[in-house]
Amino acid sequence: MIAELICVGTELLMGQVLNTNAHFIAKELAPSGVDMYHQIVVGDNPQRLAEAVGTALRRADVVLLSGGLGPTDDDLTKETVAAALGKELVLFDDEWEKLQAWFTSKGRTIAPNNKKQAMFPADAIILPNPNGTAPGCIMEDGGKAAILMPGPPRELQPMFTDYVLPYLLKRSGHRLYSREVRIFGMGESDVAYRLDDLFKHQSNPTIAPYAKPGEVTLRVTARCKDEAEGEALVLPMLETIEAVLGDVVYDTHGRELAEVCHHMLIEQGRTLAVAESCTGGQLADAFITYPGSSAYLVEGDVTYSNDAKMRRLGVRRETLETVGAVSEECAREMAEGLRLSAKTDYALSTTGYAGPDPGEPDKPKGTVFVALASREETVVKQLHLFGDRDRIRHTAVLHALDLLRRKLCTK
Ligand code: ATP
Repeated sequence: MIAELICVGTELLMGQVLNTNAHFIAKELAPSGVDMYHQIVVGDNPQRLAEAVGTALRRADVVLLSGGLGPTDDDLTKETVAAALGKELVLFDDEWEKLQAWFTSKGRTIAPNNKKQAMFPADAIILPNPNGTAPGCIMEDGGKAAILMPGPPRELQPMFTDYVLPYLLKRSGHRLYSREVRIFGMGESDVAYRLDDLFKHQSNPTIAPYAKPGEVTLRVTARCKDEAEGEALVLPMLETIEAVLGDVVYDTHGRELAEVCHHMLIEQGRTLAVAESCTGGQLADAFITYPGSSAYLVEGDVTYSNDAKMRRLGVRRETLETVGAVSEECAREMAEGLRLSAKTDYALSTTGYAGPDPGEPDKPKGTVFVALASREETVVKQLHLFGDRDRIRHTAVLHALDLLRRKLCTK
């Protein structure tokens, strides 16, 4: 099946708005088996829009359109496409009522020209828009279809994911099956470099990277007829990714790092305590998010002051007075002290400078120590993290979790 995309809006042609809808739709469409050979950007001009629609309808099976569904006179997409397909617009009473209710709920008065947002060809399929006033619609005509979506990305994206993509898959007789590879400890560009061959030669399944602070996720998506075929298509690619990237891959089912640790602790029947300074409870929270964490999490101490570190965890005064609270020694003593008093198999600790204060010359903002104490050893890792306070604290939590994950993997 061939699709063509028309993005409508003079603001796109003038460079005032970046065409992120084209990027989003192309990326989401890639694994679906729907081919896209052309994309067009056209201004709010009825004649040029009509030309673009005519061309697209001739060379594609499905024409996707974004923008121009608003109430104003220059919003012409629906009228133009309907005319190209020889359809008339009629008022959909239920859509008009919904529109009025939407305005009332927002305490706004509806203008008469909003009525055109409730007008569609009589045989149109309406695409609900819970995030705005303009519903989308599908106009079918013989073997062709035009799919109209609103311009604002926060309205278009959920509409595309919830209604348009399922419609296209149904029409093309396919479904999608995805697995998510979660990676910690390697940046997105490094991942892309190492997997360059896979990225270059992908067809079915496809592979798409998503980065969030401190982590990379790869979504591997197969076009298939059922789940079993999808799994069979995806599996060899997952194995290649794991073989190339090694132990930075911590899951291939899309689970969070804490969730992976949570399950391993339960399966191995191990117990844990956490002593936190700069992460202020976020590490304990990462575990407590998951029901059943009481099976292994014995306690979490937020020991922010030096006094609390000494009193609660047994950190030595000498350590704090010589090398300070942000040090390998302090992280080690925090984890070891808590593990002994909480009588657990493992104890994690965090201590560092999250900013915005600059820290010390030899330990600038972003210097964080994470430690893991176990019966047989204590491992301490010095980190040099970047970003603002939130990001540094979040990444420190991930590093502590990764220390634990690696330890649990060796068991
Ligand atoms: P509305 O009901 O809000 O008027 P609409 O369907 O008429 O929606 P437009 O008026 O064409 O949409 O665009 C509204 C806004 O959506 C634009 O000002 C722009 O910020 C954003 N937008 C439109 N098209 C795109 C696009 N292709 N990529 C990214 N943003 C877009």
